[in-house]
Amino acid sequence: MAETTTQARQTEILEDFYQLFINGENKDSSNGETFEVVNPATGEVLTKVSKGTREDADAAVEAARTAFETGRWPRQNEAKRARLLNKIAAGMRKRFNELVDAEVLNTGKTVEAAQGQIMQAVQDFEYYAGVITTLGGKTNPMPNGFFNYTLKEPVGVCAQIIPWNYPLMMAAWKVAPALAAGCTVILKPASYTPITAYMLADICKEAGVPDGVVNVLTGSGSDIGSYLTEHPKVDKVAFTGETETGKDIMAKASQTLKRVTLELGGKSPNLVFNDSNIDNAVEGSLYGIFYNTGQSCEARSRLFVQEDIYDEFMEKFLKKAAKLNVGDPFDDNTHMGAVISKSQESVIDDYVQLAKEEGGEILFGGKRPEGEEYGNGFWYEPTIIGNVSNDMRIAQEEIFGPVVVVMTFKDEKEAIKLANDTQFGLGSAIWTNDNARAVRVSKGIKAGIVMVNQHISAFPGSPFGGYKQSGFGRELGEETLDLYMETKSVISYI
Ligand code: NAD
Repeated sequence: MAETTTQARQTEILEDFYQLFINGENKDSSNGETFEVVNPATGEVLTKVSKGTREDADAAVEAARTAFETGRWPRQNEAKRARLLNKIAAGMRKRFNELVDAEVLNTGKTVEAAQGQIMQAVQDFEYYAGVITTLGGKTNPMPNGFFNYTLKEPVGVCAQIIPWNYPLMMAAWKVAPALAAGCTVILKPASYTPITAYMLADICKEAGVPDGVVNVLTGSGSDIGSYLTEHPKVDKVAFTGETETGKDIMAKASQTLKRVTLELGGKSPNLVFNDSNIDNAVEGSLYGIFYNTGQSCEARSRLFVQEDIYDEFMEKFLKKAAKLNVGDPFDDNTHMGAVISKSQESVIDDYVQLAKEEGGEILFGGKRPEGEEYGNGFWYEPTIIGNVSNDMRIAQEEIFGPVVVVMTFKDEKEAIKLANDTQFGLGSAIWTNDNARAVRVSKGIKAGIVMVNQHISAFPGSPFGGYKQSGFGRELGEETLDLYMETKSVISYI
């Protein structure tokens, strides 16, 4: 990697140490423990972070509870909350380059990817600032003599547990609607990627968010993450992460009947029909899997190509894949950055070995890239695997890396059947110039998101979430606000 650039950015923008953010203050963990945060592109330690304990989790919950029960935040009118959300967004815009650099250093993703994600995080706050001022309860038809109206009230204290693949964007997806609704939050970032969550805490404080409304707590998921999901003073758990973790959280949260939303894993299908614009489909399919180094919940990791265009499509697809530059995330010519950790690198490689054992053919990539520039960082080549059938483990299990399996289908009916033959149901993409087909297939696919002739899955206003074992509840869009609110029905005799 270009060490000088990376190190200069690191010294300029990162603190040596990040403390917990509880009740508006930065604090060491109760036992003083810390852990190291690493740059995945180089394997070097970036900074240290406090490792929160259960005692710290109690303090964060208490702060959020007090802010919710007695503070002004949930009682403030929507316009005032909206103004503050806009101030947070303005603070993020002001520190945009710093947030981007921190995200690149902490995740190994490209600058372009980080810029897009952080801009969306900003826009999420702006979007919910707008939406909250337009939402309200309603009146309902009643028998003579009665009058009924509904009030929308915040759910309460929310534990928000997020993964490492889009650190600040995942934080924004959760914090922005919760704050807009009038909730208070304890944000638990993934241990690999806590830096921008602490920067967001700073920005919230500077914007004037009252103490206790936003708390950030780092530490082990299986310890404090799990503890928060059982905590009797937490009203809602909003979780994004692996399906298996989601099941554990749901079971634990059931003991206190918390509201739960789960955004989980995927194995999303990408269907290329013979009537599509093949060049666009090739571009979109590359982006669909290799963007963010394949570490996207809705990564289109199962590529289905209609059999009569398979040869033409694959020739173009492989040619374009060969032009992808993998390397220094800060270099403008880089298309794909690092993977998050050594263990993730091994997981990816294990799946590639499994693919070979299952009879798959490595058409491109299939190993850690070679070269001094990859040093002690964590890397994997963009990898394309053919000769796969949809029942193989490589086609059914989420890899969470830059690996796509390619299969064929005969006709529309088979395409839909194969797309739906999975435990997951998060994203999906269709490439066709037949509008009626696009509508039929969109309706036939059992997934929360369908991308038609384009590859972007998330905008602030469009709901994002899964069917089946990809979870339930939605993020983004108006639906999400509702999940941070209770509906109170007031019935009067008049
Ligand atoms: P993960 O489940 O290992 O961890 C996610 C978060 O949960 C982390 O903060 C972790 O510390 C915490 N955690 C771990 N165990 C816990 C427990 N028992 N109780 C409470 N919290 C716990 O997931 P990950 O590896 O960080 O992220 C990758 C996964 O996230 C992939 O499966 C991906 O598909 C999914 N994801 C889904 C979406 C979506 O919107 N559906 C978006 C991004 C990522």
